[in-house]
This record gives sequence, structure tokens and C-alpha cells, in this order.
Amino acid sequence: MRIQHLLGAVKNRAYRFVDTQSFIDRQSAINFFKELYRATEYLYLFVRSQKPVVRFFGYGYEPSREKIEIDITYRCNLSCANCNRSVGEGQAKSNLDMTVEQIRTFVEESRAMGRRWKVIKLLGGEPTMHKRLQEIIAVLKAYIDQDSPGTRLELWTNGEGQRVREVLGRLPDYVVVIDSSQTRGAEPLFNSFNLAPVDSPFYKYTDFAHGCSIIEKCGVGLTPSGYYPCAVAGGIDRVVGHDSGTLHLADADANMRKQLDEFCRLCGHFRASRSSRNQRKSPAWVEAYQRYKQKKPQLSTYGKLESIPVLSETPRTAAKPPKRAESAVE
Ligand code: SF4
Ligand code: SF4
Repeated sequence: MRIQHLLGAVKNRAYRFVDTQSFIDRQSAINFFKELYRATEYLYLFVRSQKPVVRFFGYGYEPSREKIEIDITYRCNLSCANCNRSVGEGQAKSNLDMTVEQIRTFVEESRAMGRRWKVIKLLGGEPTMHKRLQEIIAVLKAYIDQDSPGTRLELWTNGEGQRVREVLGRLPDYVVVIDSSQTRGAEPLFNSFNLAPVDSPFYKYTDFAHGCSIIEKCGVGLTPSGYYPCAVAGGIDRVVGHDSGTLHLADADANMRKQLDEFCRLCGHFRASRSSRNQRKSPAWVEAYQRYKQKKPQLSTYGKLESIPVLSETPRTAAKPPKRAESAVE
């Protein structure tokens, strides 16, 4: 009896070991193919964005006219290494929010231009940390119902923590929640976002205005400082302070190549590197974060602000939106 008991225990352990092994093998295989896919993408982007190639074939990617990512807040409950909005540890944390009035401005502009978005994504930071998320959703829902019934409204969340989950639980059914805690898999690796291609001699002959596939896959970006070819570019501008956001949707298309040229040269999504759990920063980013720490950049403000207490010190002008220190609307 005792021997049978012993054999049973050994068998259980063996099963558990095999289960763990197959899990590790599966995870390694997934990571291997992810890396292979990424390497192929980077190789293509590198070759395709070389100046002579662009001169011959034109640009390989066009900014999307049907998808938009709105960074409604830069607050986040996590501090991921290599955060591509620079709100992770050792980067440039922020409490900057978009206002509900700015979302109304976006809706008015979309209406005026007859723009029917295929998908509107709410991101951040962690979008559930925006105190007026429900109002933002209501404004967008009214636009969708009246002007663009086919638009899909998505909210991208890290899905971490009780507070985030409570907010998610209160969202209306028509909001499609994309939860990265469910989609990112077991091995949380990150792009080396803070390795700027401009710091690498390999990118000497690159035409950065080419952009990467994100402008087509994810869409254009809208941030508190205006429109960008992608929301990542808006996040870079928040740190480096070029103040290059486009303040009107009507002018957005004209400025995209200029913005790509400015921001892709700093963006780790453009530079081939291995995924990593660690933060690595090239000189351009070390300097940018140091400057940010010394003095937060002043950027123009998109749309209208509103008369909620936290914004009351900021002047309101319609024709020429005010420059603002990031802290002025936090
Ligand atoms: S959850 Fe997203 S926004 Fe927040 S720190 Fe991580 S990568 Fe950045
Ligand atoms: S800024 Fe980054 S994410 Fe945006 S297009 Fe350029 S390389 Fe891609």
C-alpha cells in the first residue's frame, strides 16, 4: 500500500514536470517565432526606408484615414520597461489628461469633414484612469449613432488591478475592450523603445519620413497636443517638445510626413533590436529625459479646454490655442 502511494506521488510529480516542460517549450517556440517575425519586419523596413529606395518606389506606408488612436490620458497604474508613451519607470511619467471638451472638438471636426472612422481606439497611459471616461465614451457614442454607425469603439487596457477591472466592469456593452493582460502572452517582452535609430550609424541613409507599419495598422494619433501620424509620435513630442502636433483635422494630412521625419528618427519601433525586459536608452533618449526632468516642454493645446477646476488657470483662446506647460492641465 505504501509503495503504491509512493508510486502515485512519483507519477503525479512526473506529470507536473512534463506539463511544465511543455509549457516552457511552447512559450519558447512562441517567442522564437515572434522574434523571427519582428526581425523580418525590421529588415523589410530598413531596406524599404533607405533614401534611394524611397526615391525610386515612393513611401511604403500611408497614414490611415479610417483608424484613430486617442491617448486620453498619460496616467498609468503600471511602469513597464520601455513604455512607448514614456510613462514607465525611468522615463517621463505624467498625469496629463485630455478633456471631454477636446473629445467634443474631435467629434465636431470629424462631423465637419464627413469623416467616418472605421475604428476609434481609446488608449493612454491606462485609459480607465481618466476620471471622466464615461463622459468621453458618451460623446463618442453620440457621434457614432448620428454620423457613423459603422464605427467600432475600442478601449485598450492593461487590465491590471482591482480599480481598472472595476472601471472595465462598468463600461457599456458597445465598447470593445482589448485587454493586453489577456493578449500579451506569458512572456512580457518589450520593444527597446528608447533606442533611437538616429543614434545608430546604420540609419545614416534612412528616410525617416517613410514611417513604419504602425501608421497603417494602428492609425493616426490624437493627443492633448493635436494630431500625429501615430499616437507614439505624440508621446515622443510630449517628451522632446517639438510642439509639432497638428491642431486641426483638416490640416493633419499635410503635416504627416514632416512629423514622421521628426519622430521616427527617435522611435524604437523603427530600429531593429531584440525584445527585452530591461530598459535600454541610446544617447538621444538619455538627453531627452534629462531635459524633460529639468523643464517640462511647453506644447500647444488641441481644441477647447473646459472649465473644470484643474484647468481653470489655463487661458482659453479659440483662434490660437495657448502653449501650455504639461503641468498646467494635470
Ligand atoms: S501599461 Fe502601457 S502605458 Fe502603462 S506603463 Fe505599461 S506600456 Fe506604458
Ligand atoms: S513614430 Fe514610431 S510608431 Fe510612429 S510611425 Fe514612426 S517609427 Fe512607427
